[in-house]
Amino acid sequence: MAFELPDLPYAYDSLAPYMSAETLEFHHDKHHNAYVTNGNKLLEGSGLEGKSLEEVVVASHGKNAGLFNNAAQHYNHNHFWNWMKKDGGGNKLPAKLQAAIDSDLGGFDKFKADFVAAGLTQFGSGWCWIAVKDGKLEIMKTPNGENPLIHGAKPILGCDVWEHSYYIDYRNARPKYLEAFVDDLINWDYVAEMFESATA
Ligand code: ZN
Repeated sequence: MAFELPDLPYAYDSLAPYMSAETLEFHHDKHHNAYVTNGNKLLEGSGLEGKSLEEVVVASHGKNAGLFNNAAQHYNHNHFWNWMKKDGGGNKLPAKLQAAIDSDLGGFDKFKADFVAAGLTQFGSGWCWIAVKDGKLEIMKTPNGENPLIHGAKPILGCDVWEHSYYIDYRNARPKYLEAFVDDLINWDYVAEMFESATA
């Protein structure tokens, strides 16, 4: 099925000052839109037209680099918009998710330190993640458009560390952006929803 650009689940100015309207206008309207437009061109004739987005991501990996990059970035950004909300972030998490972070990731503070470190040490463009693999949470990082799906895992939280996600608001200060993402932006209810479906 053809890829479609979703609307942001909030107003463009609602994540300020942690993520500005200008960043969201470029990031959603230009960058994400380009992944959708280019992905649809590459999907045509690929033999994967009837597949779900997740299936296209996994099936194109290692076989059709152009389609993979655009489809994976479409998948990543669809969720990224929902992984943030106004007045989000902080360490008040839904109970089941909190329990899994305590048992698998060493508690909230260790999760935060390891997640920020993963985003910081991802050289160049990419993403840092919490993913569910073999029933357990793991911190991961991936280059470019790659995501946990191609590593046999299911992402439940991801932060975009491409410069297009933070350069307008933070310039080169990727650590500040990652701290703000955890402290002020994460939509833990959406993370908990993905956790539920990844472990169902
Ligand atoms: Zn992005």
